[in-house]
Amino acid sequence: MKVIGLMGGMSWESSVEYYRIINEDVKRRLGGLHSAKCLLYSVDFAEIERYQSDDDWKQAGEALGDVAHSLEKGGADFLVICTNTMHKVIGEIQKKISIPILHIADATAHQIKEQGINSVGLLGTRYTMEQDFYKSRLESNDIKVMVPKDEEREIVNMIIYEELCLGKVQAASRDFYKKVIHGLIRDGAEGIILGCTEIGLLIKPEDVNVPLFDTTNIHALEAVNISLKK
Ligand code: GLU
Repeated sequence: MKVIGLMGGMSWESSVEYYRIINEDVKRRLGGLHSAKCLLYSVDFAEIERYQSDDDWKQAGEALGDVAHSLEKGGADFLVICTNTMHKVIGEIQKKISIPILHIADATAHQIKEQGINSVGLLGTRYTMEQDFYKSRLESNDIKVMVPKDEEREIVNMIIYEELCLGKVQAASRDFYKKVIHGLIRDGAEGIILGCTEIGLLIKPEDVNVPLFDTTNIHALEAVNISLKK
């Protein structure tokens, strides 16, 4: 079994999910008392969020590169960055280590293609929905990516940072997300990507009538696949 290095704390509300999903899947697959071999480095998210809002991605990449280096030194065989947004600096992180990083958008694109879906709606932080680093990774797999309208993106983003990352799961926010999702489906989305690792705390498959791609679940399960691959 390979050792999974988890770069977590962004936010810890979703890192808990990664830890649970990974261990549950190893137990399901190997049985008995088996559990995952993993290391978790959980950062102080306030520091990372400051770099984001200051638009200081260089410093964010430096800080997360140091985290990755610690995990490599600690014995991780490969890394999982437990946030979609911080994949923006995956290049800077990779420069500081020699072990591979499992990209969350690649794992997600793979699932989307497997289901024969060509156009998806993407929900995430404003960075993920508006910038190119994430969408282009999906588009290079021939997936058309649609995002919510300006004023909707602002509220989707606000709910992530002011509620979900603080462990607040509110019915009114669920209703708002469902409204945004239905708009994307009306505009032609055949599936919806929960492209922020906390959204799965709010939106469940039964809330939506098209396939839902929960990046936390997909990423964590793919990490187990790699860990158990002979
Ligand atoms: N966990 C979130 C994501 O998947 C947002 C927090 C962050 O900015 O890293 O993008």
